[in-house]
Amino acid sequence: MTAPTGTRSSADLIRAEEPVLAHNYHPLPVVVARAEGTWVEDVEGRRYLDMLAGYSALNFGHRHPALIEAAHRQLDRLTLTSRAFHNDRLAEFAERLAALTGLDMVLPMNTGAEAVESGIKVARKWAYEVKGVPADRATIVVAADNFHGRTTTIVSFSTDETARAGFGPFTPGFRIVPYNDLAALEAAVDETTAAVLLEPIQGEAGVIIPDDGYLTGVRELTRRAGCLFVADEIQSGLGRTGRTLAVEHEGVVPDVLLLGKALAGGIVPVSAVVARRDVLGVLRPGEHGSTFGGNPLAAAVGTAVVELLETGAFQRRAAELGTVLRDGLADLVGKGVVGFRARGLWAGVDVDPAIGTGREVSKRLMHEGILVKDTHGSTIRLAPPLTITAEELRSALGVLERVLNR
Ligand SMILES: *Cc1c(COP(=O)(O)O)cnc(C)c1O
Repeated sequence: MTAPTGTRSSADLIRAEEPVLAHNYHPLPVVVARAEGTWVEDVEGRRYLDMLAGYSALNFGHRHPALIEAAHRQLDRLTLTSRAFHNDRLAEFAERLAALTGLDMVLPMNTGAEAVESGIKVARKWAYEVKGVPADRATIVVAADNFHGRTTTIVSFSTDETARAGFGPFTPGFRIVPYNDLAALEAAVDETTAAVLLEPIQGEAGVIIPDDGYLTGVRELTRRAGCLFVADEIQSGLGRTGRTLAVEHEGVVPDVLLLGKALAGGIVPVSAVVARRDVLGVLRPGEHGSTFGGNPLAAAVGTAVVELLETGAFQRRAAELGTVLRDGLADLVGKGVVGFRARGLWAGVDVDPAIGTGREVSKRLMHEGILVKDTHGSTIRLAPPLTITAEELRSALGVLERVLNR
């Protein structure tokens, strides 16, 4: 008999995973047992400031009271219908999400990768039915160093060999151009192009922010070429950068918006394709679907998330505290930090490789009570819940300074 959870130590639980859990992750050696707001607690009761926030899936912190209450209320009433029937929560979710993003229609899905897959299908169908691309000839232009998820089709256009190797044959129909390079994008777009699919800020690549004018250029180019601009805001969207959407920093409205992560409030997977009616309207009954997509529990949580964002308070907070983050990181340049990129409460920090890899630095921060995640090489990513206080943020930056300079 194995002892019930709660009586086993962190070390014991980590050892227990090894033979029974697929090794597709390499987590930091911390076993989280409970969390609230910006803080998590491990099995032994040690507390950590969460500076990763589930890769932005926890923009509102752990167990935000309004989200937990919405989930509890819905759990007591109705959880799943499938889309064979209507449910009484879905209309409001779609109405309010469309209004929040300034677009017309919503296709509810579950995970981010499903939203991306759905966006690809919609763009291809639009290309054949509206643009008139010959059957099976549609292309989608994407950026190098992208991260859009882990399905077979999505890794088909990844440039990360670790994500691809061993998983072919791959889905054709994608062209890869360098990110932040309008000339290369222009050269790749032609009459077969259904869409340009991009992250407005590349998260997994290390919070890579394109030059001012790039997103505007993509918008103009796609409009001129008669193809769609699909913005993957699964990580950058919903308050993280100080605006509801990262594209708003350039006043750009994409044709198709992909949302996930924070849309789920940290409770149940919720993602969505949000688009203009003339684009998402190409789908007809039977052509696409999901058993769980748009379930009443997800719709209730998603609606509560949209309600939090409608106030604008989280976006303002991310913008204000983003200044604290940026100033704090600027002070660390030359003191263990060789460079950084930041927008809102989101930063990619390049640590001096002489100090250690991103993972080594992440481990040292963990021992000091701060949870972060490395991306590549010596880069760590900071993305705390948007509910973090200025004091917590300053204290985390202080710990980072100490860890990098001893
Ligand atoms: C996380 C992420 C995805 C994939 O989301 P999953 O829920 O993990 O499938 C897609 N695009 C971007 C930009 C992401 O950050």
